[in-house]
Amino acid sequence: NVIGAAPGLAFRAFARSRLLSTLAVLEQRDGKLSAGSLGAFTAAKKLGGTVHGFIAGGNVSAAAQEAAKVEGVEKIISVDNEAYEKGLPENYAPLLVENIKKGGYTHVIGGHTAFGKNVMPRVAALLDSQQISDITSIENESTFVRPIYAGNAIATVESSDAIKIITIRGTAFAADTPASGSATVEAGVDPKAEPISEWVSEDLAKSDRPDLATASRVVSGGRALKSKEDFDKLMLPLADALGAAVGASRAAVDSGYADNSLQVGQTGKVVAPELYMAVGISGAIQHLAGMKDSKVIAAINKDADAPIFQVADVGLVGDLFEKVPELTEKVKSA
Ligand code: FAD
Repeated sequence: NVIGAAPGLAFRAFARSRLLSTLAVLEQRDGKLSAGSLGAFTAAKKLGGTVHGFIAGGNVSAAAQEAAKVEGVEKIISVDNEAYEKGLPENYAPLLVENIKKGGYTHVIGGHTAFGKNVMPRVAALLDSQQISDITSIENESTFVRPIYAGNAIATVESSDAIKIITIRGTAFAADTPASGSATVEAGVDPKAEPISEWVSEDLAKSDRPDLATASRVVSGGRALKSKEDFDKLMLPLADALGAAVGASRAAVDSGYADNSLQVGQTGKVVAPELYMAVGISGAIQHLAGMKDSKVIAAINKDADAPIFQVADVGLVGDLFEKVPELTEKVKSA
């Protein structure tokens, strides 16, 4: 018997949180858990209710055990099968759907990464749900906030779908860390369908520098660097002196000065490091969309009216071919 308003409300709140259950989709590479993907747990915990994790690949038992140490997570569902190793969406999406159906989840959360952008909309389509992309905050279990028009407007969206398929912006949900949690690890359902796509090869840019998406410092070069040789000659020593990751504007990437994986912006990576240094970058709106949430923005540009100075906390007006080597030496001797 529920008598009076207060116990009734308490009962409803309890019933609601019991019904909420979220599956956080984790990423791995060569059996190593991608730390960045643990942001899905952070978002899942904000929703409340039960939190499970999902991981699949050729040999994911160690990564599943690692994820099981995240506090507040009840269960990690893992599927060991080489067919899912590279996260090919045609094979991975049906697998995920089977596991979502089995677990009866109300929410599924993945990163707004190359993998997430590839897999999650297919999962949403297979479940007849509307995908909710690139969210930066959670208002409640059905209302989410996401930037639109390259971050120039913020939309608040409400979903009435039974299963909400969500991708999160990495910079808005700090990655959770494995600590003293003790989730159970359980084998998931594997439909073992005949793979309809096959991994042929990959050509990865290798670097010992910090990962651009998660680095605490980033130095980015723009079109003004003029050539790949000058980009490497000026930007790499500066990055190494600062212990920073290297980024680039789209103009620098399109001109062949830097690898495509280094592009920052609307159609590249979104970063929010402690320090973002823009060198010879004008500050076009599409570039700002990828870095304007950085804690400190520094810019070197020879044009004092360049738009980048409108968002910069620290600006240096001058010729980068002179200023960058000078700055690199100063940082090294500091
Ligand atoms: P420029 O705009 O040419 O700027 C070069 C700057 O260097 C200038 O400000 C100049 O004053 C300065 N400079 C020149 N010589 C020197 C020197 N010797 N020393 C110091 N400073 C010097 N761009 C992105 O970056 N990321 C994206 O994800 C992205 N997505 C896009 C998506 C769409 C749909 C569209 C239409 C565009 C997109 N762009 C993106 C492109 C964007 O609009 C700009 O064209 C691009 O960012 C410009 O790159 P930049 O600043 O390096 O070059």
